Amino acid sequence: MIFDSHCHTRFSADSEMQAEDALRAAEALGLGLVFTEHLDLDFPGDVDYTFDFGAYWQAYAPLCGDRLRLGIEVGMTPATASERETLGTDVPFDLVIGSLHVLDGKDLYFAESYAGQTKEEAYHAYFAKLAEMVRTHAYIDVLGHIDYIARYAPFENPEISYGAFTEDIDAVLRAAVEADIVLELNTRRLGARRALKELVPVYTRYRALGGRYVTLGSDAHAADAIGANFRAAKELADAVGLGIVTFHGRRRELLQ
Ligand SMILES: [Zn+2]
Ligand SMILES: [Zn+2]
Repeated sequence: MIFDSHCHTRFSADSEMQAEDALRAAEALGLGLVFTEHLDLDFPGDVDYTFDFGAYWQAYAPLCGDRLRLGIEVGMTPATASERETLGTDVPFDLVIGSLHVLDGKDLYFAESYAGQTKEEAYHAYFAKLAEMVRTHAYIDVLGHIDYIARYAPFENPEISYGAFTEDIDAVLRAAVEADIVLELNTRRLGARRALKELVPVYTRYRALGGRYVTLGSDAHAADAIGANFRAAKELADAVGLGIVTFHGRRRELLQ
């Protein structure tokens, strides 16, 4: 069974998805699920992107079985470099995604965060920070959405083209491979032909540098987005020779 290893329920500040609805959607698609709620410390703005680990466990541990795992998506900053301080010891997360949502104190979600920068400047800074965060967060299991910036950056062509950012992207991929961190294939943007086409060389290069596995993650915040574009994702993984995995108790599991 393939797992959707990245989604957000009501424990994430920006999601109201009910666990039962997510599980029903996953079951209809024949997928397993990992809930990966947001933990973003010192997030700019007024929204609190933290949650109560104990309450999360209490609510969802009874739902866990073959089809559900409980994880977390850590927004990587210098404040989250310590695994113990970030994750505590109260609950045994199955999977830890590390993601970059904030750059130099600015939320990458907002167009204003890119003001005054060329695409080259903004993307170079993004990849440099991503590589640095991967190197200082060797404890994470999965590097989330390497193409996150392309969702929101207000440039005419927002894609993370490997040809244009070769050294920058190589630095991120090398850091992940060296730390045995699995690269996520975030499926949210794979419905767009251009996005899919631009991501193929990134994952091909990851494989060439020694990467062996990907997780597939829809990043769903609503049940109808669970498993989105998984067919295209599976085809991409197969085409470049990457195995699809998820994690259980922080251990990698190869999926068929
Ligand atoms: Zn994210
Ligand atoms: Zn997410």
